[in-house]
Amino acid sequence: PFEVLVVGGGPAGAAAAIYAARKGIRTGVAAERFGGQVLDTMDIENFISVQRTEGPKFATALEQHVKDYDVEIMNLQKAAKLIPARQEGGYHEVVLENGASLKGRTVILSTGARWRQMGVPGEDEYRNKGVAYCPHCDGPLFKGKRVAVIGGGNSGVEAAIDLAGIVAHVTLIEFDSQLRADAVLQRKLASLPNVKIITSALTTQVHGNGEKVTGLSYKDRNHGTEHDIELEGIFVQIGLVPNTEWLKDAVALSPRGEVEIDARGETSQPGVFAAGDCTTVPYKQIVIACGAGATAALSAFDYLIRLPAS
Ligand code: FAD
Repeated sequence: PFEVLVVGGGPAGAAAAIYAARKGIRTGVAAERFGGQVLDTMDIENFISVQRTEGPKFATALEQHVKDYDVEIMNLQKAAKLIPARQEGGYHEVVLENGASLKGRTVILSTGARWRQMGVPGEDEYRNKGVAYCPHCDGPLFKGKRVAVIGGGNSGVEAAIDLAGIVAHVTLIEFDSQLRADAVLQRKLASLPNVKIITSALTTQVHGNGEKVTGLSYKDRNHGTEHDIELEGIFVQIGLVPNTEWLKDAVALSPRGEVEIDARGETSQPGVFAAGDCTTVPYKQIVIACGAGATAALSAFDYLIRLPAS
């Protein structure tokens, strides 16, 4: 059994493991895919102190750094259920999909999130070649170019406002007959000269020239007509889904399925902590996930030293 069992091996889990191991306590990390979302990322230019790197390179560096410490890494292990300890100071059990189970006196949940995809032809082919999901990450790559934002909820409208300050032109495409973002955001968006809003529109295809995105097609849902737009970038903002389906019965989740945490990273379950994109933390970024992982590990240590000696 572990003193600190981390579930998830992205930036949050790696930071949590390093901070825990540095306290000299028995630490393990179980991850479905060590590295997490950064494995699918091209360029990273906003991890402070690293001017520019690539996702897979960053993931290797994460793993190397964890391996510098006495941490048991269990890669390709998917957690299916968390059974919280019955009494304070007891072991929490993490049941893996393969039937095995792991025990931790504290558990740090860091299973991240995934961007909901449009599921249209061209989206996969042109991911990172014009199809993007994170305006904070990739916005500057489209400086002076034309982009579309798919989705008129808060995140889509925020993305459109953000991008309008960087790119030449933004087309916001919403499936519904009206935007769903807060009124104040909609007013701000409507005031921008280089933004066009198209509602009742279903994106049907991403076009490219084999190397990069060149446009998209959408269907006007009122008239059934097909339209093409020429552009260089498409930001898909139709939801970030936390990987917390397996935690439903174990810890409190927000209405969006994020693990609810307090400022110390503790969940509703004593001894169970969480960090990164799977939680209610505002803004989902690598640097934020790393900081949250450190917070969760220090809080787990704090919890452990307060347990009565057994
Ligand atoms: P994740 O990175 O999602 O890691 C989750 C970990 O948990 C993985 O190891 C996963 O396999 C594992 N896991 C999931 N479910 C289970 C389970 N049931 N059992 C066991 N393990 C499980 N951020 C930036 O700051 N800068 C950027 O430039 C940037 N670009 C991005 C580009 C793309 C294409 C994407 C998708 C994201 C980008 N981000 C960027 C966001 C950034 O990658 C995330 O904020 C960050 O990776 C979150 O870290 P995390 O550890 O919380 O979760």
